[in-house]
Order: sequence, then C-alpha cells, then structure tokens
Amino acid sequence: MSADAAYQTYILPEDDSRFAVDEIVPVDPFAGRLVDVEYDWDKVPVPSSLRELESRWYTRRNPLDRSGVWRFRELLPFATDEQIVTIGEGQTLLQRCDEIALDVGLKANGLHLQYEGMNPSGSFKDNGMTAASTHARIVGATSAACASTGNTSASLAIYSSATKLFRCFVFIGSGKIAYGKLSQALDYGAHTIQIEGDFDDALVRVREVCAELGIYLCNSVNPFRLEGQKAIMYRILEELDWEPPDWIVVPGGNLGNSSAFGKAFAELKHLGLVDRVPRLAVINAEGSNTLYDMYEHHGIRWNDGRPPLEDVDSYFETMNAEDRRASTIATAIEINRPVNLLKCLRALETMDGVVREVSDEEILDGKAMVGAHGFGCEPASGATIAGVRRLREEGVIAPSDRVACVLTGHELKDPTATVSYHSSPPNSPDDVLTARGVTRTPLANRPVVVPNDLNRLVEVVRGIG
Ligand SMILES: *Cc1c(COP(=O)(O)O)cnc(C)c1O
Repeated sequence: MSADAAYQTYILPEDDSRFAVDEIVPVDPFAGRLVDVEYDWDKVPVPSSLRELESRWYTRRNPLDRSGVWRFRELLPFATDEQIVTIGEGQTLLQRCDEIALDVGLKANGLHLQYEGMNPSGSFKDNGMTAASTHARIVGATSAACASTGNTSASLAIYSSATKLFRCFVFIGSGKIAYGKLSQALDYGAHTIQIEGDFDDALVRVREVCAELGIYLCNSVNPFRLEGQKAIMYRILEELDWEPPDWIVVPGGNLGNSSAFGKAFAELKHLGLVDRVPRLAVINAEGSNTLYDMYEHHGIRWNDGRPPLEDVDSYFETMNAEDRRASTIATAIEINRPVNLLKCLRALETMDGVVREVSDEEILDGKAMVGAHGFGCEPASGATIAGVRRLREEGVIAPSDRVACVLTGHELKDPTATVSYHSSPPNSPDDVLTARGVTRTPLANRPVVVPNDLNRLVEVVRGIG
C-alpha cells in the first residue's frame, strides 16, 4: 500500500489546508481545529465489495491479516505494510443476545452485543492505539503520552510494552479511576503521573507537556486513533454478513468512537460499499451529559459543516462559570468537555443520530443484564443497554429493528462497581418493580452468608434448589 493517498486536513471548511501524513498538525478542538485524515480513494486499491476482505481469514498467519483492524487496511490506508504496528488487536465477537432483546422490547433476534473488551488491553481503545502507534512510528516518535480516565492509558501502555517502539507517559487525575485500569498502566511499565484535578485538567496539561517536549500525543484528538476505531464498524458488518443493522448504540465520553463510526459509514457510502447507513444512538451518563444537553436541548448541530461555534463556546463558558463538573459511576465517560464534539456532531448528521442520557442506576442495571446474559462489561458499556431500553420506550427504536450495542470495556476493568452492585442491601426497589411497574428478575446477585457448619450449608444449598 502506498501512503501518498492519505493527507490531513482541518475539519471545518473555512480552512482547506492539507498536511502530509508524517506531519504533526496542531489541534485546538474548541476552535474547530480538529484534524481529519482524508484519502484520495482513486489511489487506493479498494476492494469492489467488503466481502472480499473476508478471504484474509485464510492468511491469518500474517499478523496484518490477523488484526481485526488491519485486515481492513484498504479502508484506513495511511501506512505502508512495513510501518504498521499491531499486537493482534480486534479479535472480538458479536453475540446475539435474545434475553436482553426481549427484556428491552425488541424481537428475540434483534439485539447484538459487540464485545470490545476482548481486545489485548480489555477495551476498544486498542483499535485506535494500533493506528496511533503506527502513526507514531511514521513520524519517528520515541515517546508517547496520554491523559486518561483509565482505558486509554492501559492501551497506550500495552502498545509501548509489547512493541518497545516508544516510551509511555500516562497522566491521570486525582479523582476516580477504576483499579483494573490503573493496575494495567503500572504493570505495563508506563511512567504514570498523577496530577491534582480531573480528566479534563489532565488533558489540558498533557497537551501542553507534549507540545513543550515533542512527545507524541495519543488522546483521541489524535485523528489516527479514530481511523483505527472505524474497524469496530467493519467487524460488526462482517459478523452480520455485511448487512448493516438499523442502529449502532455506543456510550459517549470524549466522542471518539461515535466520530469514528460516522466517518466509517460516510466513507463506505462514498465508496459504494454499503447501500444503507445505520442510525447512531450516543448514550451519555446523566452526570456527564454535555452532548445530550447541547444536541437535544440547545439544538446544536453540525449543520452541514457550519456548526454554531459561538453557541458551543458560550455553553462551555457557562459550564466553567458555574463550575459544573461531570460525575458518574461510569468513569470512562466522565467528561466535561468532549474533545471530539464537532466530529461527533458530523457523525450524528451522517448517521441520522440521536443522543440520550441515562442515570447511574440504569447504567448499572444495563451492565448487570450483560453480566446475567452475556460475558459482562464495565459500567460505561452498560449505558448502551439502558439507552436501547429508553429509545424502545419512546418508540424511536422500533420493535422489529436490529440493534448492535458496542460494549466498550471488559467486565474486570472495574470489579469494585460490580461487587458493590451485587452486594447492595436486599429489598431495594430495584428488586421487584421497576418505575414502570414491570416485574423484573432481581439483578443483584448477593452472596449468601452461612456459618461454617455442614448441616446449615446443606440446608441452605438444598433451599436454593
Ligand atoms: C474511552 C471509553 C469510552 C468513551 O469513548 P469515547 O470514544 O471517548 O466517547 C466508553 N467506554 C469505555 C469503556 C471507554 O474506555
């Protein structure tokens, strides 16, 4: 593959400068100056149908063909085969889950769960980090850094430790971070720097430090990460035999995923590789609902490339003035100012999207559903199930629609949340009746405390059945 088909641009049309792929282009997400990777598709050997890429299953001994990102490399053609950095990411599964489908009001075969927790570092972030690591190699970086609510740092750290191509610096805030994630960064040998403040503070600082010291920045302002994350959509299509679902549902934090999904479908459509684009539902946590509030209450839209930047600015000014700070159990989506806001607005336009907010209780119930009927997931991912339930109730998602939920992170990332959910005091209202008066299987699975006595144990186990 030749890399001269790819170049970088700013996303807003006022500025049509083009930059080469091996340049580091300055970014200021809040001035609209986000960078996009664009391609001259005429120069790329794009397959005539997506199905052709499936033949790579037979050549899986080639690491590029095994990778769930790079086996689609004609669709993110910014690197030569020799430049690509892969550790075998993207070996994920799409599980059809009839129990959850019926529970949320879909037909039995209507719901699929995309397990991104099966990636090497346990979250979808590896899809992006393989691409960012590849770009880091292209520009000759020897150090890379990120600010993180946890999974980005785990992902960057594993690419650093497994490839030894660059040193890794991780900036975390002093607030909540799930221990599974922090333990990974430490175990993989990342230089971990904890600063006073939250994620947004850490992101501001890491960008300054990177600029000062020439360190390669791996947050999702990095457009190459989003190129890798497009592959989540390709794999969902592949598992559905290339028939697009009606809905893609994803939790929204910094909005890199939703942005990447929109770009993936805009390109597939442009290339004539899909005839239909699914709708997108981005699910915020109530305690971290910037996108929801802007999109659903303030009418802020991409507006065909003319988003109301002044309204966005004044929204953030008010947020700062009132010192509103995000807070949710789903720490992976606890973000005040989503850096990919504008790209996400564009994706919502491409995919005729909607945004919803769900409470922490709904998020944890959604997560418990995935645990009870699937392989489990971390709290942020549970927001997707809660979001589908809400959109079904509203009639936005139809009973016959086919829905794919992107479960962004692995169950074991945040065992504290899981254990405390299942140890919650019995007879809480969640147990029997939901707010809508529907009887539901109790989701909290409490440990039973029994004295160390054989007769009592036999009695209790027999009683359970
Ligand atoms: C990073 C992350 C998110 C948020 O994704 P964005 O692309 O920033 O919106 C959601 N869930 C998990 C588990 C994450 O690690």
